[in-house]
Amino acid sequence: MKKKQKKETPCLTCGRPSPETICLACRNRIQGEAIDKKQEVERKGRTDKGRV
Ligand SMILES: [Zn+2]
Repeated sequence: MKKKQKKETPCLTCGRPSPETICLACRNRIQGEAIDKKQEVERKGRTDKGRV
């Protein structure tokens, strides 16, 4: 018999079994990286505007 629990699928990023598509740890990391990239883009945009 199978358990009626939520199916755990491997996290897309680290491959660990997780109830979510991406586990919380990886999600936090991805969000952090996204913020870093955003800040980088914003910084570049500012530099470009400032130079022109
Ligand atoms: Zn993960």
